[in-house]
Amino acid sequence: MLIVQKFGGSSVADAQRVFNVARIVTETYDKGNDMVVVVSAQGDTTDDLIEKAREINPDASKREMDMLLSAGEQMSVALLAMAIEKLGRPVVSLLGWQAGFLTNSNYSAARIKNVNTERIRNELDKHRIVIVAGFQGINRHDDVTTLGRGGSDTSAVAIAATMRADLCQIYTDVEGVYTADPRKVQGARKLTEITYDEMLELATLGAQVLNNRSVDMAKKYNVELEVLSSLKQVPGTKVKEVAKLEDMLIKSVAKDTNVARVMLVGVPDEPGVAFRIFSLVAKAHINVDIILQSVGRDGTKDIAFTVSADKGEAALNALRPYLEQVGAKQYSYDDSVAKVSIVGAGMETHEGTAALMFEALADANVNIQMIATSEIKVSVLIAREDADRAVAAVHKRFFEN
Ligand code: ADP
Ligand code: ASP
Ligand code: MG
Repeated sequence: MLIVQKFGGSSVADAQRVFNVARIVTETYDKGNDMVVVVSAQGDTTDDLIEKAREINPDASKREMDMLLSAGEQMSVALLAMAIEKLGRPVVSLLGWQAGFLTNSNYSAARIKNVNTERIRNELDKHRIVIVAGFQGINRHDDVTTLGRGGSDTSAVAIAATMRADLCQIYTDVEGVYTADPRKVQGARKLTEITYDEMLELATLGAQVLNNRSVDMAKKYNVELEVLSSLKQVPGTKVKEVAKLEDMLIKSVAKDTNVARVMLVGVPDEPGVAFRIFSLVAKAHINVDIILQSVGRDGTKDIAFTVSADKGEAALNALRPYLEQVGAKQYSYDDSVAKVSIVGAGMETHEGTAALMFEALADANVNIQMIATSEIKVSVLIAREDADRAVAAVHKRFFEN
């Protein structure tokens, strides 16, 4: 079999953990499998590198940031290869470009265009374990790019998809995907299976256990994923097209604090206003999430929307000339908010799921500022200080009875 294994930063945080990973890899190799292993930077290395850059130049270009951040994964592939050498198995480490990762030029959030796996195949033919640096590639100008935070998951899925691997295992510091972040919610339970669609929503709504692009790609190329612990040998969670019919209304609760709410009060209540506002925001390359518009009265209305927290100010700047021109009464952004969501395909066939969530929030005395729904999720925007309490209350309502 061809097996792709990916190990996150905490799984390779120190020498002991690196050897632990080397043992997992060599055990799988010794059973006669071809192995491609993707690794992230050790522990907090990526954060530390970002901090180092800030000390030198807070406005550093994204190209140079990518050059710097890619160093984290360069260290960890070499260290893991050395550990495997020490265990006496043939091994080679490869950077993103050596492993054939061609991306577009969107530095810091590059998209993979294709993976030329010729080199990997050659190494596998020599029966070597191939260790690949996650999170990185090169563009057509031969410059180093990175895929965005958490991007090593996507590197692993891209290899598994391109090489049609038999298995893609995402090893991390928890035992799988849970009904809520197991580090934050005491009673969180491990799921045996979850669908791509549910996992995609969950990843997008703040559960960083898998990067959302990796799930999107896994769904597109039908790569079955398994999320499991690098520290404890127990079954993890399978991410696949159709999950076992479990009698679960929802699968998980997620929290996202990387969100800000923009408020526009007293814009004209006439055709074309939403178009003007959101095209200005789009032109500034800012993604809008939840949108709320009030019923017009006395010729004006209010519009509120959410963006990621780091984009709140930019969104307001993009809109300011327009808002001044139409004489909006007031406009502001607020980043002391959080988004709490429930996700699960069960709500497609069960009415009243949203009401149950709202009831739990009411009982916990949490005020809802905005609501958004899709077939398989309900999200509420609330005060950030209420977020942990809200997650606990909602989790309790659905999973602890
Ligand atoms: P890695 O370094 O292995 O990529 P991450 O830190 O990116 O690991 O993701 C794993 C973390 O995701 C866990 O430590 C956990 O705190 C967090 N997490 C958030 N929501 C969930 C969830 N529903 N199930 C499992 N883990 C979750
Ligand atoms: N090292 C990168 C990060 O911290 C990529 C990853 O961990 O997947 O975001
Ligand atoms: Mg991660």
